Amino acid sequence: MQKKIAVLAGDGIGPEIMRQALKVLRYLNLDLQIEEGLVGGAAYQVFGHPLPKKTLDMVSTCDAILFGAVGDWQYDALPRELRPEQAILGLRKAFGLYANLRPAVCYSALASSSTLKPELISNLNLLIIRELTGDVYFGTPRGLRPSPDGEFPGAQEGFDTMRYSQPEIARIAHTAFKAARLRKNQLTSVDKANVLESSGLWRSVMSEIALQYPDVALNHIYVDNAAMQLVKNPRSFDVIVTGNLFGDILSDLASMLTGSIGMLPSASLNQHSFGLYEPIHGSAPDIANKNIANPLATILSMALMFRYSLAMDEVAVRIEKAVNQVLAKNIRTVDINNTAHPSVSTEEMGDAVVAHL
Ligand code: NAD
Repeated sequence: MQKKIAVLAGDGIGPEIMRQALKVLRYLNLDLQIEEGLVGGAAYQVFGHPLPKKTLDMVSTCDAILFGAVGDWQYDALPRELRPEQAILGLRKAFGLYANLRPAVCYSALASSSTLKPELISNLNLLIIRELTGDVYFGTPRGLRPSPDGEFPGAQEGFDTMRYSQPEIARIAHTAFKAARLRKNQLTSVDKANVLESSGLWRSVMSEIALQYPDVALNHIYVDNAAMQLVKNPRSFDVIVTGNLFGDILSDLASMLTGSIGMLPSASLNQHSFGLYEPIHGSAPDIANKNIANPLATILSMALMFRYSLAMDEVAVRIEKAVNQVLAKNIRTVDINNTAHPSVSTEEMGDAVVAHL
């Protein structure tokens, strides 16, 4: 059956970078149906809501979402539930997107843009899988209260609950083992099992699920050690799986190893391989409509869509290779230009990727 892609360009640089991804998609000339919809501030302008029913209904008929970015300073005064960024939270909730995949790839041509020594990070290629819907961010009870005990009884205290259930851990484990199978069959699970009960359960469920994937080597490390090793020897990892809180921190750390925010794609998946694919950067209103934004994170997000939602790994590899070749030829947008060559525009970068496919 023909696959259907929902394209939600959003705000700021969203439409510009999405045009480049669609240029690549059209060139590939695959048997896919494209449906475009409004989201974020652009949807608020027309429908009075950042994720209108019309968009949600359209997305429900699709196999994957290709997402640009949402947000603009002009919406800062709106109530929280009407702000453009709520669209992403709404989509995560509506489609149960519990697994966030963030590859951190350092193209050797860009190794000098990283704050780490080039010899540590050139050819780095790791994947961080973060559980997205559980953990201390959503655990209850939470709140403020007079402290019932401890060193300062009666003093105001804030409290949160870190919790993970067995099925929540099992489903992210399956996502991670399957992702490891598409790579080097090597998986590192990160927790704090020496201190936290929820981490103790996390570790035992990971080990239990590992029995179903005897071809994948699983190891466990504590989160403090993971942070240290990511900076000391990042290439020792291939796929990392971790909870929401640890993943939030480690995925930002890992993404910065590679040097530029304009290069980093992401995927958020549910258990049916339905996914939302988006660059990790925001809508960059400071450079919107200037034709200078880097479209590569969006183009690489589309590559992930082919890999994880459409089971077309060969197309993903083709796109990633083209991006690699473009960078190797010193074709750069201004944010990643560490060469003596003049920077190219957003449009020219899209054309360059097409030319190298
Ligand atoms: P941002 O990621 O939009 O921009 C941070 C900096 O990086 C800016 O200087 C910007 O010019 C630059 N930048 C970002 N993407 C770039 C690209 N592709 N090419 C070149 N330079 C790029 O973060 P921000 O400025 O904190 O937020 C701007 C808006 O985006 C806010 O409304 C925020 O809420 C929203 N936001 C949306 C998402 C999303 O849609 N998933 C994520 C983060 C922030």
